[in-house]
Amino acid sequence: MGWKDLYKDFDELSQSEKLALFEAIKDTLFPEPRLKLDKVAEEVRDSRFSAGLACVHCGSKAVKRNGTYRSRQRYLCKDCGKSFNDTTASPLSGTRYPDKWLKFIECMLNGLTLPKTAKLLGIHVSTAFYWRHKVLYALRSLGHDTLNGIVESDETFFLESHKGRKPVTFRKPRKRGGIAKHRGISKEQVCVVVAIDRDGDVVAQNAGRGRITAIQIDAVLGSRLAPDSLLCTDSARNYMAFARMKGLHHEVINVRKGVYVRKGVYHIQHVNSYHKRLKKWMERFQGVATKYLDNYLFWFRFLERYKDFTAYEAKRAILRDMSKRANHTTVEYLRAV
Ligand SMILES: [Zn+2]
Repeated sequence: MGWKDLYKDFDELSQSEKLALFEAIKDTLFPEPRLKLDKVAEEVRDSRFSAGLACVHCGSKAVKRNGTYRSRQRYLCKDCGKSFNDTTASPLSGTRYPDKWLKFIECMLNGLTLPKTAKLLGIHVSTAFYWRHKVLYALRSLGHDTLNGIVESDETFFLESHKGRKPVTFRKPRKRGGIAKHRGISKEQVCVVVAIDRDGDVVAQNAGRGRITAIQIDAVLGSRLAPDSLLCTDSARNYMAFARMKGLHHEVINVRKGVYVRKGVYHIQHVNSYHKRLKKWMERFQGVATKYLDNYLFWFRFLERYKDFTAYEAKRAILRDMSKRANHTTVEYLRAV
């Protein structure tokens, strides 16, 4: 059979089938290089110690190389006397299944649910859960961006969820996302403040339940806005009060009166489209437990940052980023949250 025989039916495929076929052919012809953990460990070393070798336990620079163990470089701190290697205190530390970890990151990037991930990797769902949150806490430890220049900000709401916490005593358990009992904004809703600057740097965090005050906005944004930044919001009163409180230049976009752009550059379309993408992405989790909401907000921020990367580049970036800063999140800690 010649290629023309295959191709003659191409037009009968739907657009999405055509694209899937294209991707499949591309993957077969140009497979991405296999990511090797040894290679990753080198990259982790470079990014982790980009400011010089330092002890992952106490931060001291008095560190010497101390031989290798299982072909991994070891270091000894002269100040605290503890030793470490390139991945100590990262999610990869002491992992028994390095190849599964790479596959796991791939599942996270593709937004697979925990049960699907667990099945694909042959691990327990609870293991998948701990791995996911280890990664999320590690990424979170890198901290938020500082926002500069024009900063658009707006609130968005998620239904409060106690998923995973048993038993729920003060109300009937709500299954799988569900609908709020009250219409409009109530204490059942968790308010997430999102702010985004024109470089695409983002701060997104749970600010409290129901309608929030200027003080609550300040708790999320206050320390993360560069002093000369310019705040762009709708006409909500809490934002007015927040801008006054911080002495920020404030451009108010009166969307309710049909104003969408002022002076050509002031608008809140970036933050609003971020909300839309975030909401759509969150749907797959069918209501994340509120106590983990910030982790997921962080994760989405990273996904947005990696979105123009190839799958291979994104995987490498995550492995590097999640190991950059020593993070001591343990299974015991996650159980206690
Ligand atoms: Zn030390």
